[in-house]
Amino acid sequence: MIIDGKQIAASLKAEVAQKVSEASAKRGRTPKLTVILVGEDPASQVYVRNKAKACEAVGIENETIFMSAETTESELLDTIARLNADPSVDGILVQLPVPRHINESKVIEAIAKDKDVDGFHPLNVAGLWQKTPHMAPCTPKGIMKLLSAAGVDPKGKRAVVIGRSKIVGLPVAKMLLDANATVTLCHTRTVDLPSVTRGAEILVVAAGVPKMVTGDMVSDGVVVIDVGMDRDPETGKLCGDVDFDTVAPKASAITPVPGGVGPMTIACLMENTLECFLAHFDGLGNL
Ligand code: NAD
Repeated sequence: MIIDGKQIAASLKAEVAQKVSEASAKRGRTPKLTVILVGEDPASQVYVRNKAKACEAVGIENETIFMSAETTESELLDTIARLNADPSVDGILVQLPVPRHINESKVIEAIAKDKDVDGFHPLNVAGLWQKTPHMAPCTPKGIMKLLSAAGVDPKGKRAVVIGRSKIVGLPVAKMLLDANATVTLCHTRTVDLPSVTRGAEILVVAAGVPKMVTGDMVSDGVVVIDVGMDRDPETGKLCGDVDFDTVAPKASAITPVPGGVGPMTIACLMENTLECFLAHFDGLGNL
């Protein structure tokens, strides 16, 4: 079975659109997301455009603040402080990466916890690990929703995650653990990766290495979530961390690239913006 991330994301967005419309009527205003882009990185420009488009599709008001690559750290922090104080702004997202002269951690910490739609603020990260109310990071949240939509309950299953980044690998491992899977987290120092991945019933790959997981590394019936967004070195085309052609025949379910995790990430961003909006009226405890 191919897990159709596009279609699952479309139904989540339809659900969010419905809730946005109801919540806006009840509260007398529309949720608003402000995205900040510093610099002219072409990939980042595409990402912020897609976020604006998704907002329009679900009825979330949105603005993108374009700042030059020469913007200083204090100018960016001032802009964030202004948005934190603006009651009409529910969600703030700074498109990463920021230029090298700006300290990324400072930027992430500057965004108010209850406007942090990305779920990267240390207090939101702590909330995930301590099971207290928090904004969940979009990609890991999307992965859990894809599993659920595919009818996969992680409870009691052996889950293997490749990659321990702060934005994908680590949080998704925690979410799988909270869903009662037994989780193994792999990284570049893992010895004999294939022997670990062959034991997986659920395999989440977030390494950023094109087609690194091949058919001989998985067992029959595995559920595979490919988070990778890479370029095939031979064709230059977008591909994942999983060699789809050799892994798919053995998998009971698998996400394609493109059309898997990517669309879910943006749908979850819309859901997070709605949650921030609701939290501004009802309090963070209701997240
Ligand atoms: P990262 O570079 O921050 O982390 C990669 C992790 O993979 C590291 O922990 C590293 O130890 C591990 N790793 C790398 N090579 C490995 C190997 N050969 N064996 C075992 N472990 C290895 O990357 P990231 O930000 O987590 O992103 C991972 C991939 O997911 C990238 O392709 C990225 O583009 C993609 N991504 C997609 C989305 C989406 O919405 N679809 C969102 C975020 C990231």
